Amino acid sequence: MSKFKPFREFGSPLVGLNPEAFLDYINKEISDGHLCKLVKEIVFLLDTEAIELKYSLSGQNSYHPKLLLSILFYGYATGVRSSRKLAEKCEKDFHFIYLMQCYTPDFRTISDFRKDNISEIKRYFVEILRIFDKLGYVEVGKIYVDGTKVRANASTKRTKTGLQLDNWVSLLEGEIEKILQEAENIDAREDESCRRSDDDDQLKRKLLRDENLKEKIEEAKKKLKEEDKKKINVSDVNANHMKCGGSKDIHPSYNCQAAVTEDGVITASEAVTEPNDQNQLQPMIEQTESNTGRKVDEATADAGYGNYENYEYLEEKEIDGYVPDLNFQKYKSGKYEKEENRYHYSNFKYDAETDRYICPEGEVLKYWKTRKNKTRYRQWNHKVYKGTACESCSKRSLCTKSKVRELLIDIREPLLQVMRERLTSDKGKEKYFMRQYIIEPIFGHFKHNLGYRNFLLRGLEKINGELKLMCIGWNLKKMLKLGYTPKMIRNL
Ligand code: SF4
Repeated sequence: MSKFKPFREFGSPLVGLNPEAFLDYINKEISDGHLCKLVKEIVFLLDTEAIELKYSLSGQNSYHPKLLLSILFYGYATGVRSSRKLAEKCEKDFHFIYLMQCYTPDFRTISDFRKDNISEIKRYFVEILRIFDKLGYVEVGKIYVDGTKVRANASTKRTKTGLQLDNWVSLLEGEIEKILQEAENIDAREDESCRRSDDDDQLKRKLLRDENLKEKIEEAKKKLKEEDKKKINVSDVNANHMKCGGSKDIHPSYNCQAAVTEDGVITASEAVTEPNDQNQLQPMIEQTESNTGRKVDEATADAGYGNYENYEYLEEKEIDGYVPDLNFQKYKSGKYEKEENRYHYSNFKYDAETDRYICPEGEVLKYWKTRKNKTRYRQWNHKVYKGTACESCSKRSLCTKSKVRELLIDIREPLLQVMRERLTSDKGKEKYFMRQYIIEPIFGHFKHNLGYRNFLLRGLEKINGELKLMCIGWNLKKMLKLGYTPKMIRNL
C-alpha cells in the first residue's frame, strides 16, 4: 500500500489549454463564496462608461477597465497595492488570474490606470454603498467617526523652509551650469576625434533630472507663498507635518477620516491636511448622508471632535451625539470635586431663574456682559459673570488672582452639560465603549494587517482616491461577512 499520492506527469491534457479552458478550471477551483467572485460581480455592476470613453479606438486594444478595477479592488482588500506586485500576482495567483481573465498587464498600465481614474474610483465607492442599499442593508442611521494619521509618500528630509528652497535652487542652477559646460566640452572633443562619446547620454539624463527637480522646487516655493506656510515638502506639496501612529516624530502625513455604521461598513472617508479632528465631524456626517441618501440619527466620536461648534451642529440637525469634550475624562473621574479644585468653574452653581452663579463660598456672581469676538483661529462667545463679594472674601487668594472673580461661560455651555449627562448615562457609556470595537479596528486592520502605514500616491486628490480604494476593499470584505453572496449580487 502506498503512503503518498502518486506524482502527476505533465502530459497531453495541458497541451493546447486555452485561456477559456484554464479560466473554467480555476473557476471550479475557487469556491463560490470567495471574495474574488464577489469583487467580479460588483465590478460588472458598476458603470465604467466614463473610463471607457477615455480610451482611443486607434492603436492596440487595451485591457477592459472592469478587469483592471477588479484587481485594484481585490488587491486593496487583501493588502496587495503596489502596481509591480499586482502585475506579478496577475501571472501567479489564481484569484488575480481569474479576475484579470488570464491577461497579464504591465505594472505601468496598472499604475497609470489608478492615477488617471481617481475621480471615477471615488464615485465607485458611493456606487458600492448604493449596492449595499439594494441588497437591503439599512443600518446607516448610527455612525462612528474617527481619524488616523497616515504617512505621505515623501521623505522628511525633503521638507524645507523658503530660505532652504532658495539655497537648493541656487545649488541646482550651479549644477545645471556645470553640466552645460561639460556638454560643450564633450561636443568639442567629439568634433576633434570624430567619435561619439557615451558621456553625452549620461549628461542628458543628469540634466533632465536636475531640471525636473528644479521645477518641483519652484512649484513648492509657489505653494509655500500662496498658503503662507513656514515649511513645505518638495515631494508632496500637500502633505502636512503631523505625529503618526503614537510616535513623537513628525512626518509629512495626511489625517484620514472615516465614518462607519455599527456593522463596520464605511459610509464616508476623506483625507485632509489639517492635523486636528475638530472640523471633521460635520463633513463626515454630511458625506454619509449624501453617499447613502439616508439621514444620520446618531453620531459617536472621541474627544478630538468635541467642541461647541459640533455640539451646536448636532443639536440643529437633531442628531444624538456621543462626543465628549477634552475635559470630559477629568469631569468623569471626579477630579473637579477634589478639595484642590474647589474653586474650579464647574463647582459654581448656576441659577437659571436669576441668571447668576453661586460660588463655593455661597456668594453671588452677577451677569456683567456678553463678549463676542472672532479671530482667525477661534471664536469667543462668552457670558461674563462677576463676583459681588470677592473683595472681602478670605478665600480670594485661592479663587482668583484678580480683585474680583470673573467667570467666562460660553453661551453654548448648556449643550456641553447635556452632552456630559448623555455620556454618563448607561446608554451613553455603552455607546462610547463600543466605539473602540467598531471603528478603531478598521484603522488597525489597514495599518497592522495590511501594512497601509503610508500612501503610495502623492497629492491630496490622488491620496483621497487611494483612501477610497482602501475603503472599497474593506467594504467588499464586509459585504461578504454580512452574508451577501456573489450569487445575490448577480441576481440584483
Ligand atoms: S473670591 Fe469671590 S467668587 Fe471666589 S470664593 Fe470668594 S466670594 Fe466666591
